[in-house]
Amino acid sequence: MSIVVQKYGGSSVADVSRIKQVADRVMRTRREGHDLVVVVSAMGDTTDDLLGLAKQVSPNPNRRELDMLLTAGERISMALLSMAIRELGGDAISFTGSQSGIITNDRHVDARIIEVRPFRVQDELARGKIVVIAGYQGVSYRREVTTLGRGGSDTTAVAMAAAVGADYCEICSDVDGVYTADPRVVPAARRIGTLSYEETQELAESGARVLNAQAVEFAKEQGIAIYARATSSPLPGSDPSADGSVVRRHPPRMPGAVVGVASERDVLVLHAVPERPARPFALQDVLALLDEHHVAGKQLHVSGERLTLVISRENLHEEARVRDALAARFGQGVRISDTLGAISVVGTGINASFDNVRRGTEALGAQGMSIDGIATSSFRITWMIDRSRLDEAVRLLHVTFIEQPRQPAP
Ligand code: ADP
Ligand code: ASP
Ligand code: MG
Repeated sequence: MSIVVQKYGGSSVADVSRIKQVADRVMRTRREGHDLVVVVSAMGDTTDDLLGLAKQVSPNPNRRELDMLLTAGERISMALLSMAIRELGGDAISFTGSQSGIITNDRHVDARIIEVRPFRVQDELARGKIVVIAGYQGVSYRREVTTLGRGGSDTTAVAMAAAVGADYCEICSDVDGVYTADPRVVPAARRIGTLSYEETQELAESGARVLNAQAVEFAKEQGIAIYARATSSPLPGSDPSADGSVVRRHPPRMPGAVVGVASERDVLVLHAVPERPARPFALQDVLALLDEHHVAGKQLHVSGERLTLVISRENLHEEARVRDALAARFGQGVRISDTLGAISVVGTGINASFDNVRRGTEALGAQGMSIDGIATSSFRITWMIDRSRLDEAVRLLHVTFIEQPRQPAP
């Protein structure tokens, strides 16, 4: 029988009635003759609420204990969904990440999956069960419980799809696919029918929450097709791209064409300049201290003696401690800016000429948005601007590049 992996995000299991609707969708899929593995996120804002509790107890919560706490969220939804499926006459069994064989490295709070040993999952599928798995979590080689970083349930789903040889992996959310920008911010955003792995990964890394970047990276490595669609949408028919978005190997589009705009609000920008002779240090020392505190940088730029680093705050839960350590060791040599956000446009060959950089820079400048930095790769152009104007900037660049596109310069 064909195996299907479905993942339901937090908003899809936010309350009991929605859990029952998910159970119904699972049962309909089952009746179509598929074996099913269902991955769930924590209910609604549970993960944020648990983090809030931790912060009330400790401003710098211990990373291991955070993982013990945060994994409880997905455990609640897996058990409730399993019960709801049973209520509808299905035979379901739930597993934690550890029970389903998700093995990670030993980095707490943003662990990476190293391998999947899905033996219990496969045994239960062979017994005809619907297997419900808690997303976002695993177990390290040291037998410690770990979490996969925010949005990590998508990664669980894709890794499990690869491990059990699923026909496809469906990521079900409150939005019916990947759009040219966050539809909550840009009402004119359009759904993209088919995307390449690279485009999707860049969009995700630039802040488009709809799919997790590491999940897409896994899908690319393993050649798994991801179908992103709304939980409320019908089951995939003969043409799975008819509704929703499909992420898979995709023939290149016209180089330079922009597929989407994304933004990231919750970033810190670190500037390091050794104060000679007051307090000499090597730029490497700054990176070593950040590594000691498990701080993950997004964009690193070194020019002469100056280092600039963009840090995503998503999985940084000990910010106060890191700031104190930087100040104690490097004094005024390290400054942190907490007012900037990143806006990116994504597309294959986007910086083949400077046309796109110029157009974006001009459009932002014309609205009086000052640009603190620009970074490019062959898939992305990112501008650092005042965080308070990010949404406005997303709408502006969406008009510039997608609603009124121009042929890219040869
Ligand atoms: P889930 O809980 O189902 O994992 P998320 O909140 O993680 O859902 O992701 C879905 C949200 O991502 C949508 O509600 C939407 O506002 C946001 N989003 C941001 N960028 C995009 C985009 N380019 N396309 C679709 N949704 C996007
Ligand atoms: N519950 C986790 C989070 O809120 C994981 C996920 O939803 O994918 O980040
Ligand atoms: Mg998500």
